[in-house]
Order: sequence, then C-alpha cells, then structure tokens
Amino acid sequence: MTPAASAADGADARGAGEPEAAGADGAPATEPLDTAAVAGEPRADDPGGGSAATPIRFVHGFATDRGLRRELNEDSVLAAETLFAVADGMGGHEAGEVASRVCVETLAAGYRAADGRLEPEDIHQLMGQADRAIREAACERAGTTLAGAAVVEHEGAPHWLVFNVGDSRTYRYSHARLAQVSVDHSEVQMLVDSGEISLEQAIVHPRRNVITRALGAGDDPRPEFWMMPVEIGDRLLICSDGLSGEVRDADIQSILERFPSAQDAVDELVQAALRNGGRDNVSVVVVDAVAGHPDDPLADTRPRRHPEADSTTTEPGVGLFGAGRPGRGPTERGARQSPHRGSDDRGTA
Ligand code: MN
Repeated sequence: MTPAASAADGADARGAGEPEAAGADGAPATEPLDTAAVAGEPRADDPGGGSAATPIRFVHGFATDRGLRRELNEDSVLAAETLFAVADGMGGHEAGEVASRVCVETLAAGYRAADGRLEPEDIHQLMGQADRAIREAACERAGTTLAGAAVVEHEGAPHWLVFNVGDSRTYRYSHARLAQVSVDHSEVQMLVDSGEISLEQAIVHPRRNVITRALGAGDDPRPEFWMMPVEIGDRLLICSDGLSGEVRDADIQSILERFPSAQDAVDELVQAALRNGGRDNVSVVVVDAVAGHPDDPLADTRPRRHPEADSTTTEPGVGLFGAGRPGRGPTERGARQSPHRGSDDRGTA
C-alpha cells in the first residue's frame, strides 16, 4: 500500500451488535431521494437527538494504491468522520487525476462548510457541484466515478446514505454476510440485469470497464442513493474497481471477517488486489459502526498523517487523498500506457 494510505487511524474496537438484519438489497432509487421527508436533525452521533439508545461512533481505515500496472493513480479517497468516498478518474493525460481529485475536494469543502453535518439533499447538491467543477476543470474530457456513504440523521436515527455514480462500489458487511449496496452503472451490469450474461461472465467480460454514468463527462451524471439504518456492528466497504475487479466477493468477505481493525482490513484488501495482479489503481475505505460515545477519546478516528505520507490532510478530521500522488512503486512496469478507461471507452453506446 502507499504510505499515504497507512495514515489512517488504527483503532480497532469494533462493535459486535446483533441487530436485526437490514438487507442491503433495497431497490435502488432511480431518482434522487425525496429529501423533503428527511428530518434535518444533527448528525447521527449527536447523543442528544433522537431515540438512539446506544451512541454510535465510526471508526474507519483507508488506502489508495497505484497498483502494479498503471503509470498513475487516478483514484482519490475522502475519509472524514461521517463522510466516506472513493472516486475513480478516467481520461487521458492525467485528466482522470484531476477529475477524481476535484470530485473529492468538492465533497470535502461541502463537508467542512456544513461542519460535518450534511443532510441528504446536501450530498445530492454536492454531487452536482462536483460534476460542474470537473467539467470546468477538465473541459469535459475527463470524468470520474464516485461511490461512498454519509452518515445522516433520518427519522431520529442514524442512517447510511449510500451514493453512487459509475462502477466504484459500496458493500455492507453485516451479520456475517457481505452484500453489495450500490449497483454499477456499467454496460455489463445492464447485460446482467437483462439476463444476457451471468455475474461470472460479467467479471471477465471484455467491456467490463465501460461505465454508463460518470461525473464530469458524458451525458449522464445522475447519482443513485440508498438509505439504510446504521446498526452497531455494520461494516461498510467502499472501493474502486481495482479491488472488486481483482478480488472475488467471497475473498473480500473473508478478509472483512478476519480483520477486526478497519485499517488492517483495508491493508489486507489492498494486498489481495495486488497479489491477484494489481492491474488497476486500488482504493479502499472500511467504516465500522461501533458502540460508543463520539466524544470518547477512542473516537478520534481522523486519519493521521503517516511520516512517509505524500498526501494531504486538508483539515483535521478530513483525510483527502488526491489522485496522482506517488503510489507504491513496482520496479517493473508492464502494460505501459494501458489507459485507464480512456474517454472513448466510456460507453455512450
Ligand atoms: Mn479503476
């Protein structure tokens, strides 16, 4: 993993609550949430608000790695106390780096401006802002995926607000079961949905990298959202396709089971992707919902700057790892110039 990635917090307390399962298989909203119905209460970890009997705090780990084949790392990662995201940029000549970085920077700025208390509609607006900012910065020649989750208050209880554009993913590991929450915006997902190919075929399909939605480029930047109650013991995984394309879900689940520390799980997931080929940039965020008061000293989950980290932590509590920073370096570079989903590969078909 990159030094940058190891900067994250290593607190490993992890809840073992056994709340009722709330499957991550809710039907995707094809339209943005009707946020008019969402209570505008302070964020989930406010112990004063709502009915949550047990305070919940969030412990996260994250990493981003160039991988073994790419010249650049075009992924960017955002990890704050209650906002987590992975962006996978695409576009030639380093434009993908710009796109993913502008994307997470836009989210981080909104998070700070809201003092960490984002509401669902804020997330939706920030994604629109990111789309416009990328189009401006990259003249529509570059785009990015964006997958992530924010902790929001909804009907008096903390919820995961999962958001997605493109084929980075958010999974939820809960009750010893891993489920993909987000649905890829990709050609192969459409083929799977229509029954033309199986999931197994999708994994090796030659057009598996072609996405149908993106921020900053292309015609369709519409995000999708999913809302799920936060349960103590939940573990959220957000990743770029450099993980999900290299490591089977069963192996991802096994790692999440075996590594109780969020950062340890992240590191092992990255290593697994590299062992399996590391053909793409790999970015991983793991978030644990654990019992505990957010003011607990252990709750200081902000990423710490690693001594060797070539990265920026723009503000206390907001770990922001922009694309293009030196990743771990393989000495040999095969597959030179394999463009990361070049702009002609974005699937307007
Ligand atoms: Mn990728």
